[in-house]
Amino acid sequence: MLPLPQWHCWVWDVPARMSLRCHPCQRDVGHNDLPWQLLWKFNNQLRLPAANLTLLNDTHTNIPKLRRGHVGGQFWSVYVPCETQNKDAVRRTLEQMDVVQRMCDMYPETFACVTDTGGTREAFQSGKVASLIGVEGGHSIDSSLGVLRSLYRLGARYMTLTHSCNTPWADNWLVDTNDEKPVHHGLSPFGKQMVVEEMNRLGMIVDLAHVSVDTMKVVLNISKAPVIFSHSSAYSLCQHRRNVPDDVLQLVASTGSLVMVNFYNAYVTCSDKATLSDVADHMDHVKKVAGARAVGFGGDYDGVPGVPAGLEDVSKYPALVAELLARNWTEEEVKGALAENLLRVFSRVEEVSGGTAAHETPIAFEELQGPCRTRYGYPNGAGTARRPPAALALALAPALLLSALS
Ligand SMILES: [Zn+2]
Repeated sequence: MLPLPQWHCWVWDVPARMSLRCHPCQRDVGHNDLPWQLLWKFNNQLRLPAANLTLLNDTHTNIPKLRRGHVGGQFWSVYVPCETQNKDAVRRTLEQMDVVQRMCDMYPETFACVTDTGGTREAFQSGKVASLIGVEGGHSIDSSLGVLRSLYRLGARYMTLTHSCNTPWADNWLVDTNDEKPVHHGLSPFGKQMVVEEMNRLGMIVDLAHVSVDTMKVVLNISKAPVIFSHSSAYSLCQHRRNVPDDVLQLVASTGSLVMVNFYNAYVTCSDKATLSDVADHMDHVKKVAGARAVGFGGDYDGVPGVPAGLEDVSKYPALVAELLARNWTEEEVKGALAENLLRVFSRVEEVSGGTAAHETPIAFEELQGPCRTRYGYPNGAGTARRPPAALALALAPALLLSALS
């Protein structure tokens, strides 16, 4: 469990040395937790003087750093902690989505909120940071397909199936460390037949960062569209369970999916220190096992406490690009990792979407957790809409008793 959540980034087009070769638009894209920082530091009050995104200086991300890093697109993570599960997760997720939208409203010269591949490319062309929304953790939908669809309508375009906690329908990576018990050995029938299928139908990318290995394998086998790991590295280089093992990387290759490499020191070297070169090793490894089309930039800036020397903040992406070029990655491979691979997956997700009616079967009431739920709509339960409110029933009881006695 991390003390901070993560962001999710890709990188677009080729900055640094290759810009000298006449690339008119230098762009990057990734996975990024700046919205969490805005909540944590400012309770999402963007107009506070200290929250000015041009002057903000104690985060990995601010507007000048994005510019220096040639960041042209970003999946902003609307992370809310597992602690909110079965409490105020939905409300807080909506608030994080709202703060991303307000970021676009307040800095229209920098950010363009977009929801599809076409809008993303248009933002690149206009020199703005294409801003997309990723929901980091299935607890954010509170096991509700109605909430999932509503988040989609509000702009969410990927959802990580779990954060670092099981949901009532999916197991997270902590079951692989024995810190949590496996409940579903992947996904429950509701997770498979309702959540993943509905995400495919909607056109929302399925993200497998943070899930258990069983969950990874189940989803890679059933998803109709390719999936992403928005911020995960290679397990064979660092045996951390947040990382992706080689047999899963082979499924990533066979499904046209994508692993966007995480920069967090603990996932890169399994220690508190790492370098840019160590991150490039992970990218090389994913390329070796799954192919260059399976590699992306995951970042995790502003979501983790320790990032590698040489990759201190979002302005440093060009240095990693230079390293890949020095390792003989071709221009096409680098451009793929920077954005084209993600846009290929996203575009396929868009193509697969639609075609059938919305899934309507709700999760079984017994599978829900949390003590404060009403049962409206479920059969035979107190709190169903047809029953009188409990307070009314109690008020009527003495009158009924009196009439029985009289
Ligand atoms: Zn994360």
